[in-house]
Amino acid sequence: MSKRDYYEILEVNRNAGETEIKKAYRKLALQYHPDKNPGDKAAEEKFKELTEAYAVLSDRQKRANYDQFGHAGVDGGGFSGGGFDFGGSPFEDIFGDIFGDIFGGGGARRSRGRRGDDLRFNLTISFEEAAFGKETKIQIPRRQPCQECSGSGARKGTTATTCGTCRGAGQVRYQQGFFSLTRPCPDCGGSGKVIKDPCSACHGEGQIKAKQTLSLKIPAGVETGSRLKLTGEGDAGSGGGPAGDLYVVLSVDEHPIFKREGQDVLCELPINFTQAALGAEFEVPTLEGKVRLKVPAGTQSGKVFRLNGKGIASLRGYGRGDQLVVVTVETPTQLTSRQKELLEEFARESGEDVNPLGKSFFDKVKELFE
Ligand SMILES: [Zn+2]
Ligand SMILES: [Zn+2]
Repeated sequence: MSKRDYYEILEVNRNAGETEIKKAYRKLALQYHPDKNPGDKAAEEKFKELTEAYAVLSDRQKRANYDQFGHAGVDGGGFSGGGFDFGGSPFEDIFGDIFGDIFGGGGARRSRGRRGDDLRFNLTISFEEAAFGKETKIQIPRRQPCQECSGSGARKGTTATTCGTCRGAGQVRYQQGFFSLTRPCPDCGGSGKVIKDPCSACHGEGQIKAKQTLSLKIPAGVETGSRLKLTGEGDAGSGGGPAGDLYVVLSVDEHPIFKREGQDVLCELPINFTQAALGAEFEVPTLEGKVRLKVPAGTQSGKVFRLNGKGIASLRGYGRGDQLVVVTVETPTQLTSRQKELLEEFARESGEDVNPLGKSFFDKVKELFE
């Protein structure tokens, strides 16, 4: 049976350009595609014919041969006798190019390498370190290229050989119905290489899990739950893939004196009631040493004094919170008899009722509502 002319098959004229040929093939291939014409032998034959024609006319050299010698010029390239081979180039290109978008790109797309995993590292820092930031070093256990074999996985002095099953492509083709699809090569796991004599340090993996010391700059103003991202400091990738990222997740220790409220620092100042009544000066701890604080006479328990700018820096790099000093007046306990005497005298002087059998506060409240 004599073969039809390739230009005729694609319905283009002999001086059609590459784009025109591609367009023509795409249009006709979609029309006669086996998935669109299930069980239709004629359509399948037509589709094969189209694809064969396109394979020749889209290849500059083959097209030149065909133009000069006709079918004889390109026969023996896998098409003779009506045999049809989807396995090799240029069909890979055709499928990547033309069918990639139709079939979700699954056909001839190849993935090179695998990205390394992202890692999480939990780091506890002190209250002060969170407030002022810190430069520190951390040790991260992560997968990195094996030093012994330089990441090849082959024993020192030997090299990995190209996988015979996939010929180094990392993928194998298989036939599903009329279609040729690819999947990762089962013999080399997609790497395209086979290691006959594996490296003893990494057991042929090319990677090894080891501790890596990294410098870390913690900015001022972080808090529990703050996350620092170190791009490319996660697990190493394989097969040329990029490394993953490292996330350092912070938790801040509690402080014996200070509490944090946003950018403000809270602390309590316990004073006795004589100091509260008469006024006094105190040394108050701040994040940066002590400062003097004057508590005026007649200060009530719960009064808040604000120390401007003694709080925590903003993570955004400008502004700083305040320190809030909350006064609590402590009531004396375990009085000596002399102290009791003096206090009773104090109360009488103030016109206060000190008789415990007298009207209590609660009796007075009761009266109020009667
Ligand atoms: Zn392979
Ligand atoms: Zn190794």
